[in-house]
Amino acid sequence: MNIWSKFYLKTKSERLEILKKLNKINDKQEKLLLNDELKLKEIANNLIENQIGTYEIPYGVLPKIIVNGKEYTVPMATEEPSVIAAASFGAKTLENFTAKMEEKYIIGQIAFIEYDKEKLKSLDIENLIEFSNTVYPSILKYGGGVKNIKYEIKNEFLIFYVSLDASEAMGANIINTILESLKTHIENLISGEGLMAILSNYATESVVTVKAKVNVDKLKTDIFSGEMVAKRIIKATEFAKTDIYRATTHNKGIMNGITAVVLATGNDTRAVESSCHSFAVKDGKYQPLSNYYLEDDFLIAEMKIPIPIGNVGGYIKVHPMAQLTKQIIGHKNVKELAMIIASVGLSQNFSALRALVTKGIQEGHMNLHYKTLAISVGANNLEIKEVVKLLKNEKTINSEKAKEILQNLRENKI
Ligand code: NDP
Repeated sequence: MNIWSKFYLKTKSERLEILKKLNKINDKQEKLLLNDELKLKEIANNLIENQIGTYEIPYGVLPKIIVNGKEYTVPMATEEPSVIAAASFGAKTLENFTAKMEEKYIIGQIAFIEYDKEKLKSLDIENLIEFSNTVYPSILKYGGGVKNIKYEIKNEFLIFYVSLDASEAMGANIINTILESLKTHIENLISGEGLMAILSNYATESVVTVKAKVNVDKLKTDIFSGEMVAKRIIKATEFAKTDIYRATTHNKGIMNGITAVVLATGNDTRAVESSCHSFAVKDGKYQPLSNYYLEDDFLIAEMKIPIPIGNVGGYIKVHPMAQLTKQIIGHKNVKELAMIIASVGLSQNFSALRALVTKGIQEGHMNLHYKTLAISVGANNLEIKEVVKLLKNEKTINSEKAKEILQNLRENKI
């Protein structure tokens, strides 16, 4: 029997039993998840300024996704209903996720506002690379280092672009350290005045390409044939290519999946979000990040997206849940993780489009909406199910109605 079957209908302890059976978590981690006792509470004061508490959000798993022939269970941290359900459906329906990440370099910039043009001409780039690699020697030990430096003049600015292979780290702090030393070094060489030295979140050298397919027969619904659904998904992508209002929401759907995994891994969600949205406008017009087309009997889904993340460093090493996520996924390195994250994003997008062009997304959303309504009016764990059941029979659904149902339930009027 499929161990993941009806996973969503199981209780939290039953789900944890399954993860234990699959050796994805141990007894101690089960306790951490059951008690929700976050060790983070003890260290949070050292992570940010003016800290007064911690803010938790739900943590769940996408049971199974096969990327490049390997099976993964992927934790997702999100407050939004339907995200995990949709990602799981997409991962189950799409086949043959093949992903590639050729390079993972972080790019840094140094901008100058004054410089000697003759001295700039005689600047030796190889020497600059050598100098950069003396600033942060430990990155060489990990097999990384500065790979490339180039410069361009844009309006009054002389801008240097530094590409760093940060190995298993995201590399933001590493490159910022290198850039600040390099800025002073170049200032001396070109008699220049530097304006700033900082990484760029436009991560054009950390791009993942991912592709998957589904036989159109698998897409049919009560109303539409499989081929019609496939064609409507392609049309939906054309719509997004035509209209920025739709393209933004199309990409937000992709980020529903991506951000949830990025957060669960302890990575910087803002860095990934900003890089994806700027990548969407790389050709001068904001575009959908994914694309769909027909090939024989298959609908092909594909996406090219920057995933500038790390597998070590930053918050990852201090957050116990980030460590747990790493263990549950079981990836070997940062590029493998980036390819999994992109595949989850594509699964998410496919499910959203399929729902939108067939029955709409509200049906799926409403069940969870009823639950949040019940919780918001104070229903306890035993009452939630009953309130949801009764809300479904109502024509008007709002918190007033939920409150009334709960009150009647408590007074045994129902
Ligand atoms: P760290 O500063 O933690 O650097 C990573 C460290 O991990 C390295 O210095 C190294 O330490 C250690 N390490 C161990 N194994 C490896 C390995 N195999 N490869 C590489 N390093 C290894 O993190 P990052 O530089 O990655 O910076 C990420 C953080 O920066 C994130 O928290 C992000 O939010 C933040 N940030 C983001 C910005 C942005 O996006 N605009 C701006 C500024 C910060 P050692 O040398 O001691 O062995």
